[in-house]
Amino acid sequence: MAAPLLSDVLPDLIEEIVHLLQGTGAEPLETQVRALHLESICDCGDDNCASFATAPEVKVANVVELQPIEGHLIIDLNAAEKICFIEVLGRPDVRYLIEEYFASLK
Ligand SMILES: [Zn+2]
Repeated sequence: MAAPLLSDVLPDLIEEIVHLLQGTGAEPLETQVRALHLESICDCGDDNCASFATAPEVKVANVVELQPIEGHLIIDLNAAEKICFIEVLGRPDVRYLIEEYFASLK
C-alpha cells in the first residue's frame, strides 16, 4: 500500500501546522507540510502519542517546536532539512482521525 497523503488523513492538522509556523522563522516548511505522506505510525505504544513518520527513514538532525493550543507538535527535520517525523502528543483528536483512517481501509 502506498503511503497516503497527509492531506487525505489529517487536512485540519496541516492547516493548524501551517498556521503555527507563522512567526517561527520556519514558514518555508509550509510547502513541504502540504505535500507530506503518512509513512508510518509511531509504535511507542503510548496512549498519549499520535506521532507519525513522513519519510521512510527517520534521522532527526533538527526540530521545529510549535506552540499549539492543545498538546505538543514538533516537526523533526533530517540533515537535508526535509521533514521526516512529526511528534504529536496529547492530541486525542489527531489520534482518533489516524485510527479512523486506517480502520476504514480494512
Ligand atoms: Zn509514539
